[in-house]
Order: sequence, then C-alpha cells, then structure tokens
Amino acid sequence: MKKHNFSAGPSILPQAVFEKASKAVLNFEDSGLSILEISHRSKEFLNVIEKARALALEIAGLNDSYEVLFLHGGASTQFLSVPYNLLEKKAAYIDTGTWSNKALKEAQLFGNIEIIASSKADGYKYIPKNFSIPSDTDYLHITTNNTIYGTQFHHIPETNIPLVADMSSDIFSRDIDYSKFSLIYAGSQKNLGTSGSTMVLVKKAILGKVSRKIPSILDYQNQIKNESMFNTPTTFSIYVNLLVLQWIQEKGGVKALEKLNKDKAELLYNEIDRNPLVEGYAAKEDRSLMNVSFFLKDQTIQQKFDTLWQNADISGLKGHRNLGGYRASIYNAMPIESVQVLVDVLKELEKKY
Ligand SMILES: *Cc1c(COP(=O)(O)O)cnc(C)c1O
Repeated sequence: MKKHNFSAGPSILPQAVFEKASKAVLNFEDSGLSILEISHRSKEFLNVIEKARALALEIAGLNDSYEVLFLHGGASTQFLSVPYNLLEKKAAYIDTGTWSNKALKEAQLFGNIEIIASSKADGYKYIPKNFSIPSDTDYLHITTNNTIYGTQFHHIPETNIPLVADMSSDIFSRDIDYSKFSLIYAGSQKNLGTSGSTMVLVKKAILGKVSRKIPSILDYQNQIKNESMFNTPTTFSIYVNLLVLQWIQEKGGVKALEKLNKDKAELLYNEIDRNPLVEGYAAKEDRSLMNVSFFLKDQTIQQKFDTLWQNADISGLKGHRNLGGYRASIYNAMPIESVQVLVDVLKELEKKY
C-alpha cells in the first residue's frame, strides 16, 4: 500500500514518474541498456538532457536569453556559486528563514552583504513587506518559499537589479512571471526529482561581470559552455527531472498546477483554522501553498495524534527540527485525495478528544 507522503524533501513525486524511472533502470527506451549504465555522451542521454532543457524553458515561459543547467551538490552549492559568479561589490539578501540565512552566510565569505529585511525576530512567521532595495548592489537574493516555516512570497519584489531566487520548494508550482528573475535555482528533491541535483535557470547577460577567478565547476559560464557536462552529470537524476517536467506539461503546466495547489492548500488551511485543537504557524497572508506548518495547542494529545495519522498511512508529517510541531508538504505531485485523508484525521482527532 502506497503511503500518503507529506515529507518535506526528498518528497513525493508523481506515481507515473516512479513507474517510468523504474522501467528505464531495467531497459532504457528499448535500448537494451539501463539508464544507469549509458554514457552521458551517448545519443540517448544527450536527447534526455536536451529535452529537459527545452521543457524547463517552455514551462517557465522563458526565451533563449536564459540557459538551463543541471548541476550537482543540491541547492546549497548554489548558495556559494551565486556570489562566486555575481558578487563584486555588494549584494542584498532578504532573510526569511533557515535557508536564506544559510545562503547569505555563504555570500558573506565573498564580500559585502546587506540584509535589507528579516523576519528572524518573529520566528520567520511572515514575509517582510516594507523594505527598500538599494540600487548599488549586484543582485537581490530571495527564498521564494520557506520550506521550514511555511511562508511564501506572494508578491515578487520589483527591482532593476538582478533578482536571484532559491525556488527549491516552489518551482513550477504557480503561474508567476519567471522572467522577473535573472537567476533561479532549485534543488531537485521537492518539485523536480531526486536529491543531490539542482536545476539553474540563468540569464546569460548577467554573467562574466566579476573580476575574481571562479573554480571551473562552479563557473556558470564554464558550465554553459560544457552544456552541464564539465564533469559527469547526475544522469539518472536528470532523466527523472525530464520525467517530472513532462508530467508538469501533461498536467497543463504551471497554470493548472497553481489551481490544484491552491485547492489543496485551501482545504488544509480551512481545517487548521476551523479545528480548535490546532493552530497554523505562518502569518495568514504569507502562507505557503507548498508547506503547511502547524502545532497542536495541547501537547498532551501529541501521542494520540501521531497514532491517528500513522494509522491512516500518512508519512513524513513531523515538523523540521528547527521548528517542531507538524508540517504537511503538499508539493505538485501530492494528490488532493491525500490532503483529504489528513483533514479527516484532524477531524477525527477533534471528535475523539
Ligand atoms: C531543501 C532546501 C534547500 C536545501 O537543498 P539541498 O539540496 O539539501 O542543498 C535549500 N533551499 C530551500 C528553500 C530548500 O527547501
């Protein structure tokens, strides 16, 4: 029996992707070879990565002034690559949680960072709204969705300086203007595929402007020149990325997914607001459509709640160790039926205790 997986990452992927990926492990497109054993230089694999690149741009609605890279080292490596490639004098960061904090700490190794807004003092419960963006900075970095606290930018800051975003936990979950961003990166393990690999969408025009020497593997221009194959790429992960991107397109793209994601989030938040035993964490206007964090008001019923959801075949509901409580991650691949199972468990909890 397949569980309802609310895990924050690695996380649920479409069932069709699990099936296709399994088949390809045994026999990739009737080639008589496993996807795990084919060369990254083979015609078959080049076809995979080219299709994935083109689809990513299509789904994002971006033209070929952008490049798509499939890199290693998760989103965390991009915390370092971004300032390596873009930071000359000063960069602006908005601090909305653990991940943006980690990103800006890496950037501080390279130069001057201005934290232009932070919600740290309030436990990262909200997205800062009133900030001004200095014009003398090389870029502004934001984390569009804060996986741990369950907040999300519902308005993308307007700025003339290059906007850089960590979209690890909400990429392709909603219909936004992706061309507002000069660089987007996303660890695969939430909405795109398997852990350890990262997709980067970068506007070529912002590159090549820093004076420092950049190590080859972290150099976006070098990766572009080598078509993400400066060294052996994460071939299987990229294949899974392609399957997920194809699934997104079949579903109707970001417009259709946004609608589904809104329906799922509304179903769960309505129950959290209604149920007297629980309370949501994030400020209402900044609530994430992807990660729903909540607490039990009475800690003494924790064991009872845990038993109820585990008996309902729910997995991965525990909150992040930094925050505690519970977190339901309802990424693109999560069906609304699974969200309904969780809502029913919350109702049952109320009835029983
Ligand atoms: C999960 C996550 C990361 C970390 O990704 P790794 O692949 O483990 O480096 C970074 N940023 C956000 C917003 C995340 O959700």
